[in-house]
Amino acid sequence: MTKLTVISAAAATPEDRPFRARHLIGGTFRDSADGAVIERRSPAHGLLVSTAAEGGRAEVSEAVAVARAAFDAGDWSRRDGKARAALLLRVADLIERDLDRIARIETLESGKPISQARDEVAGAADLWRYAASLARTMHGESHNTLGPDILGVVLKEPVGVVSVITPWNFPFLIVSQKLPFALAAGCTAVVKPSELTPSSTVMLGELLIEAGLPDGVVNIVLGHGDPVGMAMTEDARVDMVTFTGSTGVGKAITAAASGTLKKVSLELGGKNPQVVFPDADLDAAADAIAFGVYFNAGECCNSSSRVIVHEDVAEALIEKVVALSRAVPFGDPLDPATKVGAIISPEHQDQIDAHVQDAVAGGAWLRLGGAGLPVPGLSGQFYQPTILSEVRPEMAIARAEVFGPVLAVLRFSNFEEAVALANDASYGLSAGVWSESVHTCLDFARRAEAGTVWTNTWMDGFPEMPFGGMKESGQGRELGRYGLEEFLEAKTVTMRIGRGSRAPWVQGSAPL
Ligand code: NAD
Repeated sequence: MTKLTVISAAAATPEDRPFRARHLIGGTFRDSADGAVIERRSPAHGLLVSTAAEGGRAEVSEAVAVARAAFDAGDWSRRDGKARAALLLRVADLIERDLDRIARIETLESGKPISQARDEVAGAADLWRYAASLARTMHGESHNTLGPDILGVVLKEPVGVVSVITPWNFPFLIVSQKLPFALAAGCTAVVKPSELTPSSTVMLGELLIEAGLPDGVVNIVLGHGDPVGMAMTEDARVDMVTFTGSTGVGKAITAAASGTLKKVSLELGGKNPQVVFPDADLDAAADAIAFGVYFNAGECCNSSSRVIVHEDVAEALIEKVVALSRAVPFGDPLDPATKVGAIISPEHQDQIDAHVQDAVAGGAWLRLGGAGLPVPGLSGQFYQPTILSEVRPEMAIARAEVFGPVLAVLRFSNFEEAVALANDASYGLSAGVWSESVHTCLDFARRAEAGTVWTNTWMDGFPEMPFGGMKESGQGRELGRYGLEEFLEAKTVTMRIGRGSRAPWVQGSAPL
């Protein structure tokens, strides 16, 4: 095996009492009627860490009925913004109080490093705070220029009952990119976390109840995508589905939602390029590339799994990225020094490896890694930091979302070619550009087909800045004011001022 930085089993061990995750329906936590459960083993340690109720269509139907009734009753949907904001702020405080507990279960279920899980939970608390500010400041618009006897008002109203479906890679962060914004708007919700990482969402449910959210405003149904997610999508009593996950499932959700023409917002996959021009700060770019591809073990929609580098600096850059890749601490996610943890499942590890072997068979040059990574003392699955160069744009490794710590390096010779390569993808989530010239950066930013462009940085995110994808990376936006708008309907109210100012139609003069 290539020389790498590996962190062996930490002194800390997973707890011996697995978390018991149950549905939350109408303010009550409960198991499935048939008692079915899904067990989750830590992908790093192989130990049982949670047991979750496995729901079906019956639980969804009940949860949707409760969410519908709660919305129509108006206790939350018509509550004033100040009161909604106060509750969201209480939730943020409670998340911070329970940060260690939530971060630990995130690490145990997903395999991500504990330091990163802690940052994510802290970031999630900030999202609840930001959404609280929107709850108080959102407003519609007025039109005072429609004539002396007309006043037009556009009201912003909550869209209604929202189904929230989330993936396993950032369970607590992603539910917090959706739910507080939906609640700020006045919506009620049914939430389904991934069957691989259900527990932190259930812990959030506990905090919502503790904060005083009325029963039935947020409901949680646990279980598999089909039937639970499907039923949440098809139900006519649901007004909107907000989904984060794979592009394939996003398409299935769009198709299923078309039966009732409900609104769908989608945050999907990516094949995100970092484009490095010859005048770039190569040390800074190399570090951002290592961060971009190894963060969350590459299991990240924003993974910068493609590097498109100018031929004059390609070898120098690859050398620097290889050196950094050997230094990134991979290993036990419970060790605070670890930066890259375990792969979510053995099946996913096999898929990552198949992508790499296919690329090598197709002529890519394996510069580093390319196999599983044994970690002393741990039985779970890890994958070596992997770098492939001489990748051609038509190869699968240049186009598919590998979702692992695997970097594909392509070369370009001029600006136009760089833009064409960057945009040569079915995805359009994010892109990055490295150059000391502001003109090159801005030119690239305007030409990139991506919902987010970073210049001389990677993956800086803020609650104020919208996030979402173009092309097959999704539709709609999260975060910022745009994130709130997704959960609002615009209602036009046109008012005539003054009695008798409206010309009669039936007995009036004929129109010209
Ligand atoms: P996934 O699509 O397999 O599952 C996501 C969720 O959908 C899970 O809760 C799952 O149970 C549910 N689901 C599965 N089949 C369903 C169906 N037929 N109907 C309704 N729900 C169904 O995705 P994943 O493997 O959990 O997550 C990885 C994917 O998520 C990657 O493609 C990644 O790029 C994407 N992702 C995107 C963003 C973003 O913001 N753009 C963020 C994180 C992850």
